[in-house]
Amino acid sequence: MGGAWRVTGLTRRLSVGLAVGLGLAGCSALEPWLNGKSAALNALPPCVDDDCNCGDFASQPQAQTVLDAIAGDPYGLDRDGDGTACTALPAQAPTPYPPAPPSASPHLVLGNPSEAAPEHPNNYLIERDGYVLSYSRDRNLVNWASWQVDADWLGQVERQDDFRADGILPAGFYQVTTSDYRGSGYDRGHLVPSGDRTRSRAQNSATFLLTNIMPQTAENNRGPWRELENYGRDLVYQFDRSLYVMAGPYGSQGTIGREVTVPSRLWKVMVVLDRDEAGQFEVGPNTQIIAVDMPNSTTVDEDWRSYQTTIDRIEVATGYDLLSALPEDLQGVLESRESQE
Ligand code: MN
Ligand code: MN
Repeated sequence: MGGAWRVTGLTRRLSVGLAVGLGLAGCSALEPWLNGKSAALNALPPCVDDDCNCGDFASQPQAQTVLDAIAGDPYGLDRDGDGTACTALPAQAPTPYPPAPPSASPHLVLGNPSEAAPEHPNNYLIERDGYVLSYSRDRNLVNWASWQVDADWLGQVERQDDFRADGILPAGFYQVTTSDYRGSGYDRGHLVPSGDRTRSRAQNSATFLLTNIMPQTAENNRGPWRELENYGRDLVYQFDRSLYVMAGPYGSQGTIGREVTVPSRLWKVMVVLDRDEAGQFEVGPNTQIIAVDMPNSTTVDEDWRSYQTTIDRIEVATGYDLLSALPEDLQGVLESRESQE
């Protein structure tokens, strides 16, 4: 009992203590919709709170789970009414990747969500001073980003605005350029925000590499996504918190340019680290978790709080294991709890 994960100030690394198990919180907003399966809500992807489309799912069985759990097919996943959802999707869920080698990056101390590694073209690991990414060759799009933000990362550097192809991608990858976005109607949306990297010109500039950018609707990018970015930095500036952030686009609603996938959904998780009596940042069962999953649409709610969910449900939607470096019981507590503003 007792104990917590310590986050040592030295090189901004988290180190380990142990976890305390707690009960889980539930959410019953959708209860009337479910076929007597309200306990299973935490096993459904976040799109069910909003509007699911076939493009939000990686496989047919995933879509079938939603069709079977929610009476009346409110999302139109089974248009021909034969009881099978989204027949055009792959019949099998993607095979999980083998464990990746350990990383020394401070941006992966809570785990590598998809076991990204340089030998996997569609789960290609990019490690930089300021952040870590997994990138997909076939989608020409980032899978996820992971980065820490505390006062040490924030300074006075101006936004460099130097969007450009990322030369780090190996042969056989298409290098996305600014032309791919031109005339597309989509913003060049940052995963790791420019505003989170203002200590040095080089670190800020690295956020404009197009591997860190996704086709994002203006309404989302300049609406709830930006508001949540600002909210996170306020926690650092005003309350001396340290953030461990993971975010990514998933699903598909077409392509732009030379086949850059336009994601249908965007998720973000912020682990909000507070200091213990000794002044060290720590992770424990009471650590604040902010988790959102929102549509990449033009009719998005301005308020990011409308899109709060659980890490568990983001894991269901994406197939990732977030916080995988934490003990299972601590993951269980933090991942099943509703996002706390
Ligand atoms: Mn943005
Ligand atoms: Mn997990």
